[in-house]
Amino acid sequence: MTEGIVIVGSSLAGLRSAEQLRNQGWEGAITLVGEEPYLPYNRPPLSKQAMVDARTLSVEDLHETVALGLKPRLGEIDWRLGRRAVSSDMANRRITLDDGQALDYDGLVIATGLRSRSLPVSGGESQRYCIRHLDDTWRLAQVLTPGCRVTIAGAGFIGCELAATATRLGCQVNVIDAAPAPLVNVMGATFADGLLQYHQRHGVSFHLDTRIAEIGEDDQGTLQRVSLSNGVSIDTDILVEAIGSQPNTEWLDGNGIDITDGVHCRSDMSLPAHGNVIAVGDIACFSNPLFDEVCRRIEHWNIAVETAKKGAVTLLANLGETPRTRPEDTKPIVPSFWSDQFDIKIQGIGLPAIADSAVPLDGDLHQGFSDGSPFAMGYYRAGRLTGIISIHGEKKQLDYRNRLLDALQTADTAINVAPTPTNTTGMA
Ligand SMILES: Cc1cc2nc3c(=O)[nH]c(=O)nc-3n(C[C@H](O)[C@H](O)[C@H](O)COP(=O)(O)OP(=O)(O)OC[C@H]3O[C@@H](n4cnc5c(N)ncnc54)[C@H](O)[C@@H]3O)c2cc1C
Repeated sequence: MTEGIVIVGSSLAGLRSAEQLRNQGWEGAITLVGEEPYLPYNRPPLSKQAMVDARTLSVEDLHETVALGLKPRLGEIDWRLGRRAVSSDMANRRITLDDGQALDYDGLVIATGLRSRSLPVSGGESQRYCIRHLDDTWRLAQVLTPGCRVTIAGAGFIGCELAATATRLGCQVNVIDAAPAPLVNVMGATFADGLLQYHQRHGVSFHLDTRIAEIGEDDQGTLQRVSLSNGVSIDTDILVEAIGSQPNTEWLDGNGIDITDGVHCRSDMSLPAHGNVIAVGDIACFSNPLFDEVCRRIEHWNIAVETAKKGAVTLLANLGETPRTRPEDTKPIVPSFWSDQFDIKIQGIGLPAIADSAVPLDGDLHQGFSDGSPFAMGYYRAGRLTGIISIHGEKKQLDYRNRLLDALQTADTAINVAPTPTNTTGMA
């Protein structure tokens, strides 16, 4: 007797997979295994509003503010929360949990996401923080008091969002990154420079083109300062490591599958040698025919939702069921993201990071960052639009999506040629 479909990872991608399996007609057993003790919750608020709320709430009450709703159509789920999968045997369709229990499955959903990476420098361990889980946010929020000197390693999305939140809470914030501007790999130099100046106007200090070389502590091991490779030393009370994440794949070792960067899967989310196994969400490394044949992991909220949709159809079809949607009728996945920093919402669609040039599409960049008027940048690879990033562009997202899909799905060069292809703005 098997557990039916076993989903490992009880966060967004795991929960959405369970919902989609039910939507597609699966009435059999679903077991959801999750390392965290909480029912599924939303991570995006963890670096934003939840960080503010956490200062006055218990961790349980904080969970209620970010919990993902459990829809009635989920039906019966065998929840195994606070349990970690420690190994798997795909040949024999079995996983083992950290309490020694074995679960046999017909279908397996891999949704174990990522964990934060740490700096390869030791020191001040008790004053070092990261933001991936609810508990991380609650713990960090307790020390974000006015005047607290906060050093953030990493000027990516999470680092920039935290810089904005901590500054608003009255902290003195220094952000350090090896790149020349925040989010430059995603937005290109011009947009990233606008973002840098915007943060600076709000009081955030940046140390760019440099790295943390040393972490200074006192005799008790309490963090005192960080020393940078450019010779600068910053006195600090806490250090937040926001330098990226690594996939939780250890429990998949020994199956002969490609886990060099997340879980390599087909564009229908199934694993090449195991049709009854799918990977979804942040951990899935897949190619997207809308763009090219290159496999990528994409760490966006909408990827967890869309891969769960596609994966559920694939898994049921591969298990010999008849899903309500035929696999060939599933829609292409269009990556999208948002990020809230101070008073701006950055929204992106497509894959701007693969572009080689960037050209303004709408509005004026500096006005966008100063008076709240909409601005959008188009990102082109070999003259073809691959992504659009906007600020204050909430009302135009549907237009941008249609414009991008037109460009990606047509060979019409009139649509695809960048308006001023020579105007590169620091993209790769
Ligand atoms: C602070 C923060 C802010 C974000 N903000 C935004 C945003 O503004 N916009 C946006 O588009 N995206 C944002 N994201 C990204 C978005 O939240 C993720 O893309 C999404 O959470 C991915 O969901 P997932 O289920 O694939 O993985 P995860 O959310 O990482 O969940 C994986 C789950 O699996 C569990 N797990 C791991 N290993 C095991 C194991 N061996 N056994 C059992 N369980 C295991 C983990 O504990 C975790 O609960 C943010 C992410 C973070 C961390």
